[in-house]
Amino acid sequence: MTSRRRGRKPDMSGRRRGRHSRRKGFKGQWLVVTVLAVLATAVVVHPDVARRNSLATQAIAGVDEVARETPIPTRTPTPVAVPTQKFTTPLRPAPSLTRKPKSSKPNVLVSSGKLAVVPGFSKANGVRDKLTYRVEIEQGVTVNGAAVAAKIHQTLTDPRGWQALHPVSFERTDKPDADLRIILATPALTDKLCLPLDTGGEVSCRVEDRVVLNAKRWVYAIPAYNGQVELYRSYLVNHEVGHALGHGHSTCTTPKTPAPVMMQQTKGLAGCLPNAWPTVKAT
Ligand SMILES: [Zn+2]
Repeated sequence: MTSRRRGRKPDMSGRRRGRHSRRKGFKGQWLVVTVLAVLATAVVVHPDVARRNSLATQAIAGVDEVARETPIPTRTPTPVAVPTQKFTTPLRPAPSLTRKPKSSKPNVLVSSGKLAVVPGFSKANGVRDKLTYRVEIEQGVTVNGAAVAAKIHQTLTDPRGWQALHPVSFERTDKPDADLRIILATPALTDKLCLPLDTGGEVSCRVEDRVVLNAKRWVYAIPAYNGQVELYRSYLVNHEVGHALGHGHSTCTTPKTPAPVMMQQTKGLAGCLPNAWPTVKAT
């Protein structure tokens, strides 16, 4: 440092001029640098300036602006969100191949001639003389055996039924020693099982320990019941079991009153109203 200062001393006289000339030099350098910088900006940076300004504008404007600037025709459509539950929930099992289409008619006519006992037991709901019965259905008839048995038991144990008039209570069994067999069969087998009675393929019967219900009637009832199939089924059971209890036929005596259950209602109501219950009578 000392030697540098010492070295500058001889030039002290021309110091002002020297400083002035140095200042002039700096000015020149700054001018050159500034010009170069401007040229560089103009020549090198300029191509990007427009785009950078655009990006900056977009960043400030937000996503919606970017989306708006994107040309619509080349835009890839965003897939619509689908609830994931639709894919994670198991599909319903395919219908069983053995299941009949709803449109197909139930078979009540084609006779196999073979009877099958509906398994199961339905306890009596009374304490009086127990009468046991078992339900048999001709194989091939399109009915639900358990549902048929349930309907029969429901009818026989109904408070409006025979139990209210007879010292009897009904119990369903599937044993061979049942007091009564209640059979649902095609018209062809009904005719055979009802002999020597003539059921003509249309009606039902009771012969000895057999109550035979015509499957055609069970499924379709009769027009006079006007679609009340369940009521007709109860009529069918009570009428035929009524025979087993010793009752004969009766007729419609007062039109527009309930038909007697022991009337042959399947052959026509003669002006009476449908009725399935022995306790319901014309007043
Ligand atoms: Zn009868």
